[in-house]
Amino acid sequence: YAKENGRNAYKFFEPEMNARVVRRQSIETELRRALERQEFVLHYQPVIHLLSGKTVGVEALIRWQHPEHGILLPDEFVPIAEECGLILPMGRWVLREACSQAQTWIQAGIPPLTVAINTSAFEFRGKNFVENIRATLAETGLAPHLLELEMTETVLMSDSASTNSVLNALVDMGIKLAIDDFGTGYSSLTYLRQYPVDALKIDQSFVRQMTSSTDSTSIVDAVINLGINLKKRTVAEGIETAEQHALLLALHCDEGQGYYFSPPVPAGEFAALLQSGILPLSEHQHRS
Ligand code: C2E
Ligand code: MG
Ligand code: MG
Ligand code: MG
Repeated sequence: YAKENGRNAYKFFEPEMNARVVRRQSIETELRRALERQEFVLHYQPVIHLLSGKTVGVEALIRWQHPEHGILLPDEFVPIAEECGLILPMGRWVLREACSQAQTWIQAGIPPLTVAINTSAFEFRGKNFVENIRATLAETGLAPHLLELEMTETVLMSDSASTNSVLNALVDMGIKLAIDDFGTGYSSLTYLRQYPVDALKIDQSFVRQMTSSTDSTSIVDAVINLGINLKKRTVAEGIETAEQHALLLALHCDEGQGYYFSPPVPAGEFAALLQSGILPLSEHQHRS
């Protein structure tokens, strides 16, 4: 019986496996084509200095304008791009596009904003990561201190000499480093002492539960105090309500982003929000 069941299960499973593999392969092929055909686009979400209410930065978030399926979000294709290695050319495109957009805004008279891009651990391990960033900054003319690289805790967990030298090379260039989704990885406080990170981005899962769970409030409070004591900026992600905003302000969180201020929007819309005064700008950066 067991044998027969096993065989049946196998027969049943096989076509499904194939379907999955075929689907993956077709997404991979499409991703490759999408890079060539420039189907990717960046949307931009403002980062607000909470105390002054001014816009001090922007996070670039990739979208795929798929010819048949419409706009696809990164969770649907970034993991596949990571698996098949396409994350490397994709990451280079993101870097160039974001830097050149930031420089275009400056040339249009918008006060300089920090532009944050998301980097995957795979990119970090890529050979010419640092050199490519240096070259892209030189080509686009963007000042290094206006570029912030967001990385997850996994990058910092690989306690290797090369991680250290890559991070130090970036910091020496003047680039800012932020830990994304802080608190959701294999949090080790050791790397906070070891690596030169500038900012902690408090994961939106904590922010979302803050007003209903005192545990989440305590975690957010603790992370903000960690930031204050280690002299690192704290940025709350996923602020959706006035209540969350008020609480984060009271807890002395430095900056925030979320639908409460603005969702990520196309570049043109972002510039319009700034120019219309809907998103107030500061004359000078509040950041250290
Ligand atoms: P992340 O860097 O933590 O980005 C925050 C995510 O939260 C974004 O989702 C953003 O659209 C969303 N968000 C912003 N405000 C709110 C809010 O108030 N409420 C809620 N519920 N969500 C909010 P998105 O754009 O789908 O990106 C998901 C993740 O994909 C990002 O998480 C980032 O890890 C990754 N990603 C995005 N762009 C890139 C990229 O260019 N390269 C790489 N390697 N990863 C990227
Ligand atoms: Mg991010
Ligand atoms: Mg995040
Ligand atoms: Mg995330």
